[in-house]
Amino acid sequence: MAESRVVLHFPKSLLDQPVTSMAIERFNLRFNILRADITADQEGLMVLGLVGEPEKIEGAIAWMREQGVRVQPLEQDVVRDDERCTDCGACIVVCPTAALAMDTDSREVSFNAEECVACGICVPVCPPRAMSITF
Ligand code: SF4
Ligand code: SF4
Repeated sequence: MAESRVVLHFPKSLLDQPVTSMAIERFNLRFNILRADITADQEGLMVLGLVGEPEKIEGAIAWMREQGVRVQPLEQDVVRDDERCTDCGACIVVCPTAALAMDTDSREVSFNAEECVACGICVPVCPPRAMSITF
């Protein structure tokens, strides 16, 4: 079993279609909804954790793309600019999942995209704007 965190962008024409539930059923997956929104330009946005056999997850992603859903790995959309990060630690106290954490020996702050739920809370609190979300 594996978990892949993905960002799904649904065009307006698919907003009322059960694409996600069909993919889950067809490829025998489980899923966690980490975030769901309608963006300003009326596109549907969903951040999902897909759980199952790796090849079935790949199959579901390919099938959703065929239906017209734009699917990207979460780590492509939530990014830390390591050059900008000053290891100040401000993000650690607000991150709800401990995706951002400080090493007790080196005092360096690490970002683990696999724990991230793309909530965006860390973006405005980061003084040098090292964290960004592109969706
Ligand atoms: S977006 Fe930022 S605050 Fe939210 S889970 Fe990811 S790293 Fe943590
Ligand atoms: S708030 Fe920004 S600069 Fe400070 S540790 Fe977090 S990512 Fe680095």
